[in-house]
Amino acid sequence: MSSTLCLLLLLLILSLLTVTISSPGSRSILRAVNSGTAADLRDYAVDLNVTNFDAVLRDTPATYAVVEFFAHWCPACRNYKPHYEKVARLFNGPEAVYPGMILMTRVDCASKINTKLCDNFSVSHYPMLFWGPPSKFVSAGSEPKQEKSDIQVIDNGRTADRLLSWINKKMGSSFGLDDQKFENDHLPSNASDPGQIARAVYDVEEATSTAFEIILEHKMIKSETRASLVKFLQLMVAHHPSRRCRKGSAEVLVNFDDVYPLDAWSDNRHEDQDGKGALGNIQICGRDVPRGYWMFCRGSKNDTRGFSCGLWVLLHSLSVRIEDGESSFAFSTICDFVHNFFICEECRQHFYDMCSRVSSPFNKSRDFALWLWSAHNKVNERLIKEEASLGTGDPKFPKMIWPPRQLCSSCYRSQKNNDIDWDEDAVFNFLTNYYGKTLVSLNKDKGLNGNDGTNAALEDLVPSTNAIVVPLGAALAIAVASCAFGALACYWRSQQKSRKPRRTWS
Ligand SMILES: Cc1cc2nc3c(=O)[nH]c(=O)nc-3n(C[C@H](O)[C@H](O)[C@H](O)COP(=O)(O)OP(=O)(O)OC[C@H]3O[C@@H](n4cnc5c(N)ncnc54)[C@H](O)[C@@H]3O)c2cc1C
Repeated sequence: MSSTLCLLLLLLILSLLTVTISSPGSRSILRAVNSGTAADLRDYAVDLNVTNFDAVLRDTPATYAVVEFFAHWCPACRNYKPHYEKVARLFNGPEAVYPGMILMTRVDCASKINTKLCDNFSVSHYPMLFWGPPSKFVSAGSEPKQEKSDIQVIDNGRTADRLLSWINKKMGSSFGLDDQKFENDHLPSNASDPGQIARAVYDVEEATSTAFEIILEHKMIKSETRASLVKFLQLMVAHHPSRRCRKGSAEVLVNFDDVYPLDAWSDNRHEDQDGKGALGNIQICGRDVPRGYWMFCRGSKNDTRGFSCGLWVLLHSLSVRIEDGESSFAFSTICDFVHNFFICEECRQHFYDMCSRVSSPFNKSRDFALWLWSAHNKVNERLIKEEASLGTGDPKFPKMIWPPRQLCSSCYRSQKNNDIDWDEDAVFNFLTNYYGKTLVSLNKDKGLNGNDGTNAALEDLVPSTNAIVVPLGAALAIAVASCAFGALACYWRSQQKSRKPRRTWS
């Protein structure tokens, strides 16, 4: 009887552990695998199953996905794994050489729960590899009759070399198996491609989250800067292009007075041990951000572009979303934010000088958006010369007066050398489209932006500090601990029982 009880308790522990690991919501585990911190460091490919298949493929910033269907018992699949992982290392996780381009995944068809998923892709042999835009895989896995013309079988990927050659041919790229991080010769630097900005929505999230981390890490919230941050949070709650950042900013605002009470500055009550304070636990754009890499703002060198590019895109995207009545507020809020929280001394000083030169408040959102555009161009103008003389620029992304003709020819009335006669109506129109509609077009496709959010999107919005998440984790830990304790007690009891008779016999 007691051994049956022990067995039951052990089974309960195992099933609890399984639920924790296979839960679609356990993104931290997915991230651990992604970042190579899991037990098997070579596991860069993301394990998919019927429960997380749609969510992972819908949320990925990658342009393409490879899905490997395999069976864990198949010896050929086991031998193939190191080949597949060699390619996955290039594309998956924060340490990826080419992040955000291709998501490499795998599905174990020998696992009962995945039978229907594998059937729906008509998997005929193991391993079988498919290629396509991630969104095209979504729901194709649950609807057998769904049109799968955008999904292709990779017919020649039997070694790492062959798989990468197949991908290179498909993408017109020249990725190499030995490529290392920050050798980004393959970056698309085509400034005339308006579609590129759609990917910047990930960078706006990354920049928001990074800015917030810097503010906390450098303890920049002080009595004299507090109001400025509150104003910027208000602007983001209303106008951030990413829904999850709007929601995260709202959460920070709601908790702001409790965590940073006005009277707390003298005794540092608002700080905990790591100095970040309670707000440090809030991930302002959800638990998947920051991801640790840039998409639109990725430089071709280790130390170019990134955060400052992302911050510009965030500021422009806010400027085209405000109403006329908010233009004065938005102007002063952005000026103060850069002045108080942008950690580049020269940048914030220059920017603040430009702010100070504005004599009368803006009444129209158009005027503010155009002012920001022109201020950015003044910075560009200065940096064109500086970068040319110092050689500090990014060779693949030289500074330019923006937008170039290839992006907006109607913006140019005439040009004599560097003297451009801008058609400001056309520029404003262009800015509104570029930083408004186009920027969120990816978001909309994936349901991350508007009120049409999917379950996955809603899940993304729940920060790790959320009251539901913490008690659930704690409850699970308590359950596992008490089960383990019960099992140990059981084992001890059964040992005691089996000893007793021996004592009587001796
Ligand atoms: C507020 C602010 C002030 C800065 N001041 C300085 C400074 O004084 N000195 C310094 O060395 N660096 C400064 N920087 C950093 C610098 O401007 C660049 O961000 C950095 O060099 C990276 O450049 P980038 O090539 O990624 O393009 P960025 O200039 O960062 O631009 C990002 C993207 O915005 C678009 N863009 C370019 N120009 C415009 C425009 N006029 N209007 C709208 N969109 C545009 C382009 O698509 C571009 O790729 C500042 C950054 C910020 C956010």
